[in-house]
Amino acid sequence: MKIMTIYAHPADTITNCGGTLARHAANGDEVVALILTHGGRIHANRYAEEWRKDDPEEAIAAAGLDQIVAHKKGELERAAEIVGIGELVTLDLDDAMAVLREEVVDQVAEQLALHRPDVVICDYPQNPAMTANTHTVATMTAIAALGRASTHLKNLDGRAETNVRQVFLTSVPVAATDGLSLYGTRNDLFVDITPVVDRKVAAMDCFESQGYAGLFARKLIESSNGEFGRAAGVNFAEAYSRLYNETRDLLPLTEAALRADPLTRHVEYSRFDLRARFPVP
Ligand SMILES: [Zn+2]
Repeated sequence: MKIMTIYAHPADTITNCGGTLARHAANGDEVVALILTHGGRIHANRYAEEWRKDDPEEAIAAAGLDQIVAHKKGELERAAEIVGIGELVTLDLDDAMAVLREEVVDQVAEQLALHRPDVVICDYPQNPAMTANTHTVATMTAIAALGRASTHLKNLDGRAETNVRQVFLTSVPVAATDGLSLYGTRNDLFVDITPVVDRKVAAMDCFESQGYAGLFARKLIESSNGEFGRAAGVNFAEAYSRLYNETRDLLPLTEAALRADPLTRHVEYSRFDLRARFPVP
């Protein structure tokens, strides 16, 4: 399988689906990560914090956009290697991205046509009123680009259409565990990331300049992946909502569902102590 992730910012891929990517990479699947913005202005902790010091270090306090972006890219490259992302494509657009832009849709469609992924992972777009949220615009762009790449025609574009088979959306801010509560809005698929959670911790520890290393890496995985894990019946999980319906020959029943013992699973999946296992460096 070839997976392409499409996210707004450098760290998004790791925080949302880094564990899933690590599992697929271990399975021999190809992973391409497309990142739309350089993220120079968001979570610029390393630089803002330097200015709060009595005696700021010149090299950090005087860093320009190019240096800030290059530093963040270095962190991203290290994180990508840890989870097994085979190819990193950074469009380096500005952080300010409040509207859907045709030329960005073209650029993303271009990448889809070049890599021809089977599957795309991107953020759930939340709602269109929140366009100040770059994640919303990134997914609006990704979905528009999926449509555009699917209408490529050799006669006109020099290349055939690209058909992505499924899109998995992350960040649905809903923790319902069944299809009836909350009007059925929920994550409908979980990936157990417990076997690779060390990779996710280590990859998040790379994002030091935005304050994600150490405490926050552990907090996010314990709380967010821990809560999705509770819903999934495992220690840590990443959650997805599928864009397209699935067609099967027979009704599915997963291995995890067959394995689960409802009487004891909540105790079993609570034994893993992330901070004891991976102390803050
Ligand atoms: Zn982000």
